[in-house]
Amino acid sequence: MQLIDGKIISEQIKAEIAKEVEEIVKKGGKKPHLAAILVGNDGASETYVAHKVKDCAQVGFTSTLLRFDNSISEEELINEIKKVNANPDIDGLIVQLPVPKHISDNKIIEAIDPAKDVDGFHPINVGRMVIGLPAYVSATPAGIIELLRRYKVPTAGKNCVVIGRSNIVGKPISNLLIQKADVGDATVTICHSRTENLKEVCSKADIIIAALGRAEFVTADMVKEGAVVIDVGITRVESQTTKSGFKLIGDVKFDEVAPKCSFITPVPGGVGPMTRVALLQNTLLASKKVIYK
Ligand code: NAD
Repeated sequence: MQLIDGKIISEQIKAEIAKEVEEIVKKGGKKPHLAAILVGNDGASETYVAHKVKDCAQVGFTSTLLRFDNSISEEELINEIKKVNANPDIDGLIVQLPVPKHISDNKIIEAIDPAKDVDGFHPINVGRMVIGLPAYVSATPAGIIELLRRYKVPTAGKNCVVIGRSNIVGKPISNLLIQKADVGDATVTICHSRTENLKEVCSKADIIIAALGRAEFVTADMVKEGAVVIDVGITRVESQTTKSGFKLIGDVKFDEVAPKCSFITPVPGGVGPMTRVALLQNTLLASKKVIYK
C-alpha cells in the first residue's frame, strides 16, 4: 500500500509556484492577485478564507479580502463583484460560499467574470471543462487529478466509481476522469444517495473516489484488493485527544481499507491540501492569461 501524501505534493507545488512568481517579479511583472469576498461571519467560512489569504502570502501573491455584512443585498453584492471584474489589477476572484439565504449562490457565481473565476464554478468554465476546452477547473477535482498524476496512478481503461454527485466534487471529477487526457480515459460510474447495490458497485472498482460526506462510510468489504481509494470527505467531530477539541474524519474507514489498497489518501493530509493549492494554480493561470487570452 502506498500512501498518497497531499501535504508533501502541495508543498512541492507551492514551492514551484513561489519560484515562478519570483521570476515574474524579477522580469518586472506583476504579482498574481486574488480577491476573496466573504459575506457575514460564519466560523468555517472565516477559517477557509483565512487559509486562502495565508496561502497567497506563502507563494508571493497579493490578496485582497473584501468583507461584507450579512445584511448586504443580492444586488449590492453583484455590484461589488462587477467592481472586481472591472479592476485590471485583480486576476482572480472567489466568493466564499455559502452566501446568506437571501442571496442566490447561482446568481453570484454567474456575476463573476469567467476569466477571473478561479474557483471554476461559473457555468462557462464548467461547460468548457466538460467539452475539453481550456477552463478553470474547480479546486477539489483539480487537486485529485494532480495527485493521481504525480503518483503516476494508472487511470486509462480503469473502472472508477465516484460516490457523490455534487457540482463541486462528484460531477466535475467524473467528467475529468472520462476525458481523453494523461489522467483520464477511465470508465466512470457515478453513485449517489439513490444508487442501489452501492457495495456491489464499489467492490468492482479499480478506483474509488469517496465524496459523500459521511464519516467512515466506505468499509473494507466494499473495496477490492489492490484498489486505489481517494477520500474527499471531511466530517468534523469532537475529540478529547486534540488541542483544538475536534478532529477531521474522512468518508473511508482508513484502518481497515488501507491494507487492501494499492494507493490511498489519508484524511487529513490527502485531498484537502491539494484543494488549497489548486486555487493558487488557477490564480497563477489567471495572472498569466493562459485560459482566456
Ligand atoms: P454534497 O453534500 O453536496 O454531496 C454529497 C453527495 O453524496 C450527494 O450527491 C449525495 O447524493 C451523495 N450521497 C449522500 N449520501 C449517500 C449515500 N449514503 N450513498 C451514496 N451517495 C450518497 O457534498 P460535497 O460538497 O460534494 O462534499 C462531499 C464531502 O467532501 C464533504 O464531506 C465535504 O466536506 C468534503 N469536501 C472536501 C473537500 C476537500 O478539500 N477535501 C472539498 C470539498 C468537499
